[in-house]
Amino acid sequence: MKSFVTVLVNKEKINLLNFDRKGLQAFFAEMGEKPFRATQMIKWIYQEGEWDFDQMTNISKPLRAYLKENCCIIAPEIILEQVASDGTRKWVIEMGGGNKVEAVYIPEDNRATLCVSSQVGCALACTFCSTAQQGFNRNLTTAEIIGQLIAANHRVGEQGRVTNVVMMGMGEPLLNFDNVVPAMNLMTEDFAFGLSKRRVTISTSGVVPAMYRLQEVCDISMAVSLHAPTDAVRDILVPINQKYPLKELMAACKKYIENSPRGFITFEYVMLEGINDSEADARALVKLLKDVPSKMNLIPFNPFPNTDYKCSSRRVIERFRDIVHHAGIVTTIRKTRGEDIDAACGQLVGKVKDKSRRMERLQKMGLT
Ligand code: SAH
Repeated sequence: MKSFVTVLVNKEKINLLNFDRKGLQAFFAEMGEKPFRATQMIKWIYQEGEWDFDQMTNISKPLRAYLKENCCIIAPEIILEQVASDGTRKWVIEMGGGNKVEAVYIPEDNRATLCVSSQVGCALACTFCSTAQQGFNRNLTTAEIIGQLIAANHRVGEQGRVTNVVMMGMGEPLLNFDNVVPAMNLMTEDFAFGLSKRRVTISTSGVVPAMYRLQEVCDISMAVSLHAPTDAVRDILVPINQKYPLKELMAACKKYIENSPRGFITFEYVMLEGINDSEADARALVKLLKDVPSKMNLIPFNPFPNTDYKCSSRRVIERFRDIVHHAGIVTTIRKTRGEDIDAACGQLVGKVKDKSRRMERLQKMGLT
């Protein structure tokens, strides 16, 4: 990649990283330009790494001048890096206005996964997640989402290039639908990152209507944060369950699979001692998923300050895995990565200028 061109930050300018191919086509069409301009621009930005409009030689001079005047290409910057003993890297990424999000880079033998954030904070209040304790500020733009991938590749260079993306950082991606979908499109777009749809995964707490909408526009892999086999327990752990209970969630999963390249949903299940980790829970889970093609990913709970939850013991987690696995659901225990730098699942906090006053409310209730 050639050097980043720092375009003067001018709030009025349109950041072209906000558009996927369709968006760029519409943008150019409005200017009376042909749709192929979109592909040319995408190639310059993502394949050539050429962000200086003056250097885009196959674009006419008047159009270049117009773009220079009205548009910019700007990705957010990594302002802090922590490297864990296992090679996992956590990056703090500046989003302006006192807001910072975190992204996590997880290298493995034959792949490198980037865990990307979709919002500054999170509006949901899952009780076992530390992002939730930060409250919520705003949605990230498409440029800020795809910018995390650009920044990651830039930082690690060719050899460490990201091969897999999971939308499992801060935020609920399906509550930022309109910005997340174009970013996912750019990840899988041949002329941009060209990642296989099997290697790009969106993770949701179960925003059912958005799951149906997603299925109509995009067929990337889906992970669902399940965490409990009954409404009674899930209502507490993942409160959005009160709005979209398990029956509706399972129906949405089944529908999504019809169109998914993977043909199954990955369910995430955090192991919480004495809460959702009994043998009866495991059996109830198997029953719940009996006609949803699934894989199960058990996540040992990662603690954070001021939480009363505890992680189930290894023995209990393995027993749970065996029951689900023997019932015919491929079940893995997620290897915790980057624990020593608080980069593990649910530990991402960034810096959120909370607008939801969550901390205030929790303090009033004596919960912090
Ligand atoms: N909001 C989306 C994306 C976040 S993904 C979602 O809920 O799916 C982050 C994953 O880590 C989710 O499965 C989440 O439930 C899980 N998680 C959150 N806090 C955790 C913790 N403390 N320990 C382990 N996993 C956690």
